[in-house]
Amino acid sequence: MSDNNCTDPKKNCEGCDVENCSLRRNTPPQIQKKQPGLSSHIRKIVGVLSGKGGVGKSFVTTTLAVELARKGFRVGIMDADITGPSVPRLLNVHDRAYGSDKEIYPCVTEKYGIKVISVNLMLESEDTPVLWRGPIVSGIVDQFFTDTLWGELDYLLIDMPPGTSDVALTVLQDIPLDGLLMVSTPSRLVSMVVSKAIVMAGKTDVPVLGLVDNMAYVRCEECGHEIHLYKEDDCERIAETYGLPILARLPLDAELSSLSDEGKIEEYEGCFHEKTIELLESLKKEG
Ligand code: ADP
Repeated sequence: MSDNNCTDPKKNCEGCDVENCSLRRNTPPQIQKKQPGLSSHIRKIVGVLSGKGGVGKSFVTTTLAVELARKGFRVGIMDADITGPSVPRLLNVHDRAYGSDKEIYPCVTEKYGIKVISVNLMLESEDTPVLWRGPIVSGIVDQFFTDTLWGELDYLLIDMPPGTSDVALTVLQDIPLDGLLMVSTPSRLVSMVVSKAIVMAGKTDVPVLGLVDNMAYVRCEECGHEIHLYKEDDCERIAETYGLPILARLPLDAELSSLSDEGKIEEYEGCFHEKTIELLESLKKEG
């Protein structure tokens, strides 16, 4: 049986005896998931991943956070994209995160009170590059999760490092994610790398919930018609290949890019993530 004929509705490989399936989850049992501190209670943890940088992962993470917060959910964002952190900028958070010897205090956005932790909230200036080696970066990601005083959260969204780097693997293996959202675009080059990320997730114990097709079209200002910039939308092919739903399709939109460039994502009024939120709410917490 090939991967695209997977008949396991939960995609968790239980009871499936197909050998050599590239989607098989095989997290070694000895890897213990990290847990947040005792004073933090997080209902669901969702990773947002993409194959490459610049695809809109942080944009999707922050707009999803805003939509969740608008519905009254308590939301936090952990910016695990340590070398390319952009969440604080998108949400206009410029305070310095501080901590005691036991805990890190997240910064909080002005309008919706979204809790944010990012390495950029700890650096001298946001232009300071992070020149740390992989194991140090992985340690920081783990510490962001375990040591941040998240308090009570309905959703913790993790803006993952792009691609299939060792840091992305650390997040998949160490953090008890309830699921992953894969951000792609219609471009074949992007979707090729997204496939690698889907296969990587398949080798850990984290279910991929679905795809977000970002920059999928441009809407004509005159007639409202959707203009497709690619002859074929490769995100659709990936969805079909791996039996995943496309949960949201976002346009490439000048208003949206201005909102993000100006740090005004909290002003975003769109409703692109309805289907994603419905799916997240329907997820049963394991264990
Ligand atoms: P990533 O996190 O994947 O590296 P970002 O979320 O930082 O990518 O997005 C890269 C740039 O593209 C940002 O300037 C962002 O504002 C812009 N962008 C992303 N998605 C859209 C969109 N749908 N419409 C307009 N601009 C977008």
